[in-house]
Amino acid sequence: MTSHPRGPVGGLRCLVLSRQDHGEADRIVRLLSAERGRSTAIARSARRAGARFGAALEPLSLVELGLRARAHSMDVLEHVELVEPHLRLRDDLDRLTQAAHAAEVCGGLAREEHPEPRLFGLCQTALLVLDAATAAPGLAFRLGLEAKALTFAGLLAPLDRCAICGRPAQAEDEAPWLLTAAEGAALHAACGSSGTTCSASFLIELEAARRRPLQDSLDLDLPAGPRWALAERVEAQLNRPLRARALLGDAPCPVQV
Ligand SMILES: [Zn+2]
Repeated sequence: MTSHPRGPVGGLRCLVLSRQDHGEADRIVRLLSAERGRSTAIARSARRAGARFGAALEPLSLVELGLRARAHSMDVLEHVELVEPHLRLRDDLDRLTQAAHAAEVCGGLAREEHPEPRLFGLCQTALLVLDAATAAPGLAFRLGLEAKALTFAGLLAPLDRCAICGRPAQAEDEAPWLLTAAEGAALHAACGSSGTTCSASFLIELEAARRRPLQDSLDLDLPAGPRWALAERVEAQLNRPLRARALLGDAPCPVQV
C-alpha cells in the first residue's frame, strides 16, 4: 500500500479532507493531492497550545506541506503553510455543506497513494467556486460535480445514451429511462429492469452538467429526476453512506424536485 519512497517530501500542495484527534496531543490528517491522491499523515503535538501547525490544518483548506514519508507507518507532517483557507464559504451553511460534500466525493473516490490530478483539480475548483459564490448553488452544481468525479474515477458511462441499445436520449422522448446506481449507466426502461426511473430530458441535462465547467453550473437547476442517483453510485463504490448527504437533503434547495 505504501509504495511512495521514504524520506522528506517538500512543497506538496494538498487539500485537507478531514482530521481527527489521536493520542494525547496529535492529529491524524487526511489529505488529497494531485501527486499522491488520498493520503494520511500524522501531525505531532498539533493540539498543544502554540502548536506550529496553527490553524492551517482546518478541513477544506489548501495547504503546502512538508512531510517525512515512512515505509511502514504513517507519514509525519513537518511543516504546513496555509495557501488558501476558503474563509468565505465557511460563513454560509449551504456552501459549506456543498464544499464538504465535494471533498468527501473527490477524496473518497481518489485512490490511496496514487496520482489523482483530475480529482484533485476538480475538488480545488469546486472549493474556489463555492468560496466566490454569493448564493446557494443550484442542483446542476452538485450533480455536475458528482458526475465529473465519477467520470475521473472511471465509474460512469455516458448518460445521454442507452447502455444497452446505444440509442441517444432525445428531449422529446416520453418513454421512461432508468439510471442505475450499481453500474453508473443510463438505459431505456424498455431495455433493462433495474434502476431509478427518470426522464430523457433529465439525463440530457445531467450529461450537459458533466461536460460543462463547474462554475457555469452554479446557478443552474435540473429537470425533476432522481437527484441522489449519482451520490448512490459514489456510495456503492465507497461502501458507506456519504456523510454530507443528510445535511444536503435538509438544506434549503432553490429547486423543487
Ligand atoms: Zn435502449
